[in-house]
Amino acid sequence: MRIGTIRRGGSYLAALIDSEGTSVSVMPQSGAAPAGGLLGLIKSGARLDALTGEAPGPIASADLVAPIPHPARNIFCVGKNYAEHAKELAGSLFQDSEPPFPIVFSKVPETVIGPGAPIEIDPAVSTAIDYEVELAVIIGREGRNISKADALSHIWGYTIVNDITARDIQKRHSQWLLGKSLDGFCPMGPWAVTADEIDLSNTGVRTYVNGELRQSANTRDLIFDIPTLIETISNGITLKPGDIIATGTPAGVGMGFDPPRYLKPGDVVRVEIDGIGALENPVVERGG
Ligand code: MG
Repeated sequence: MRIGTIRRGGSYLAALIDSEGTSVSVMPQSGAAPAGGLLGLIKSGARLDALTGEAPGPIASADLVAPIPHPARNIFCVGKNYAEHAKELAGSLFQDSEPPFPIVFSKVPETVIGPGAPIEIDPAVSTAIDYEVELAVIIGREGRNISKADALSHIWGYTIVNDITARDIQKRHSQWLLGKSLDGFCPMGPWAVTADEIDLSNTGVRTYVNGELRQSANTRDLIFDIPTLIETISNGITLKPGDIIATGTPAGVGMGFDPPRYLKPGDVVRVEIDGIGALENPVVERGG
């Protein structure tokens, strides 16, 4: 099942998305579909099979925002979680090959933007803007000290995150928060899918820049699998509905090329994940 978040009249509403990704059926606020878009729906614990929406309309005319839009919950991210990506950045960002524990950082929640929204580049701030396609977990059920065995039962579903990064700022500071958290640096969407839609052992993830394939990998190649990530992050930290865990990016980022191939105004970056869809955002110069 695909569910997105629509902005209508200043509030967020959840909406069913058809399997082609071409029409939306907005769920008016009611007992079954409360306010707050997808996050409201997740928090309500509503039975998804009982949900109904208005007559479907074209997705192009709906104001589709990120599935968990601003003000978002926590955004946990995992670094160096595909072996080939760890190799391509060895010596610049990563000192050793295989981390003994997952590398976890975060993006501030204000970074979240939706499908189609511009990724703004401010050349006075950074000229080394990179893309990172990532399968993102959406937590559905609150939990603390969650074991690997129980981890999947805490997942509501999945979406796509493009973990946009200012590489120069990331390298300047040993903590990655600043380089990962510029305004608009977390495109998310275009919608979410329920957990049953994704086969974690075989899901393709890809990035295209202006139609050119840059990243292509499979979630089976994650160094730390999703149950391990949930066990690690929830160790003493309560995960809550709507929390996002971006699970890491594969090889093929702009920084991995010689010379690097960073994003520039006029580019269009498209990140795809099998079973979810494609999230596309144009790159523009801030104020340009
Ligand atoms: Mg990343």
